[in-house]
Amino acid sequence: MTDEEKRLTIENKRLAREVKRLKKDNDILRVANEQSANTQAYFQRSLTKQASYITEFLRSAPYFMLITDDRLRTVMVSDQYFKYPHSLTKEEVLQGVDAKRLLSDFFYGPALSILLEKCRLCLAGKEIKPYMQYLIKDGRRFAIEVNIRPMMEDSKITGLSILQLDMTEIVSNMEQARAADRAKSNFLANMSHEIRTPMNVITGMSEFILRDSHDEEAKKHASSIKAASKSLLSIINDILDFSKIESGKMDFVNDPFMTSSMINDVATMMRIRIQDKPLEFRLEADEDIPVMLFGDEGRIKQILINLMTNAIKFTKKGYIRWSVRSVKVDDGHCRLFVEVEDTGIGIKHENIEKIFSDFTQVDTKRNRSEEGTGLGLAISQRLAEQMEGKLGVKSVYGKGSTFFFDILVRVEDWTPMGKLNEVHSEQTADIYRPSIVAKDARILVVDDNEMNLEVTAGILEPYGIEAACADSGEKALEMYEPDKYDLIFMDHMMPVMDGVETMKKIRKLPGGKDAVIIVLTANALSGAAVEYKKMGFQDFLAKPLDPKNMDRIMRAYLPPEKIIES
Ligand code: ADP
Repeated sequence: MTDEEKRLTIENKRLAREVKRLKKDNDILRVANEQSANTQAYFQRSLTKQASYITEFLRSAPYFMLITDDRLRTVMVSDQYFKYPHSLTKEEVLQGVDAKRLLSDFFYGPALSILLEKCRLCLAGKEIKPYMQYLIKDGRRFAIEVNIRPMMEDSKITGLSILQLDMTEIVSNMEQARAADRAKSNFLANMSHEIRTPMNVITGMSEFILRDSHDEEAKKHASSIKAASKSLLSIINDILDFSKIESGKMDFVNDPFMTSSMINDVATMMRIRIQDKPLEFRLEADEDIPVMLFGDEGRIKQILINLMTNAIKFTKKGYIRWSVRSVKVDDGHCRLFVEVEDTGIGIKHENIEKIFSDFTQVDTKRNRSEEGTGLGLAISQRLAEQMEGKLGVKSVYGKGSTFFFDILVRVEDWTPMGKLNEVHSEQTADIYRPSIVAKDARILVVDDNEMNLEVTAGILEPYGIEAACADSGEKALEMYEPDKYDLIFMDHMMPVMDGVETMKKIRKLPGGKDAVIIVLTANALSGAAVEYKKMGFQDFLAKPLDPKNMDRIMRAYLPPEKIIES
């Protein structure tokens, strides 16, 4: 082979290699090209898909949604727009017209100006909070929630989305619910008034028989009447309490109180209840509990009484153990831990959850003889929760139960309470004797119900007071003279001129501004005390009148020189 031939062969081989490489590159390019076409097709498909999603979304969205550009011209609108009388076609909207034209199909007057102003502010970068707009159209009232949000691209505002939610139904349901709630509160206030007024007579009169009668048989009957009306009253109170908690209106009246007297009060009450049962009452009160606490003593007692009354109710024999101890939380607070253990019927495992529900009593076949509303535990649990604690139970069916709760209380005095000085009072302690005498006090009682007048006057008798009585607001105004009465007890609900009106009229008479007027009311709903004080009364007394509260009022409002300790 000549040199030339050799060179050509090499060149040929090189060219063949070059062709092969080019072919390979070509293949790669072809594949890449195909891939790019595929990707493009894919993107095209997803764009079409997305567009169809958006179209579908705008078509079926149950609310009105408008998208505009940054000059407030229409870009898109949901089909909801076309369901109402409208002035623009779909094409016009897509081509872009002044959004004001479209929005004025819904909004008019100040509502339209407010909306456009908010749109302008939003385009200028201000955050616009959703707001409620009320509109009247064709005699119907609409409640529309308007949401305006900027549409962003590369952190620049490119337009707006304006969303309108029709809240008419929700708002009207809410208004109805509020009206129903108000009706419930009014009903409760009225019911409590209707029931408490006659109860006032029943408890008052039985109190008089117990105090004045020498006939042992009559006294026994009176004592039963008093006990029955007390239990009826406690049921009414349960229902009222419960509805107060439900509506978040439960008041807590926080005051300093002596720990030992709180424990003693409840223990005494329980010892009396336990008297006719073969039950032992064990009280284990830790001596280290701070001597003086600050909180709502009444509400704490309410939980304790609830748990212990249940324990006594559901235990035939054995014991009731009540233990109470405290743990320091910080410089100002301690946590009280309470346990009430009984050896009673116990609660089935599957019923444990249920007993804390409202109006629930379990095992009713066994408990039929026991009265109650099934609200006690529900109320106690909520009271404990409001005092930042919890209520729970451990129980073995047939063996007994242990209810326990804890609450957070402020500490007034950290000195340990020490050993309890237990007072074993007799049942007769129930007959109330006032702690003072006020023979010279001059008191006017105003009530349209004659029996109630008699009851109030009767409660005042042991104080040595002979009260003047008026059976109407008009009569009270006639009898009123400046400085004639140290105290005026005024019934709230009276026909023609009620207690509030009478009080206001007295206030306008000479010396009336300073007259001490205490309202007597069966409306024990939450907030009543504050309301009555706001109206202009100095204080209020709930019916049925509790002689113990009368003592408080006497001490607080009678001139001190007329009070003699008895
Ligand atoms: P009631 O007013 O009926 O006592 P509660 O809410 O206080 O309502 O109690 C609900 C139910 O829980 C009771 O009816 C009873 O079935 C059950 N229960 C409560 N305490 C005890 C207990 N110490 N032992 C057994 N069962 C109890």
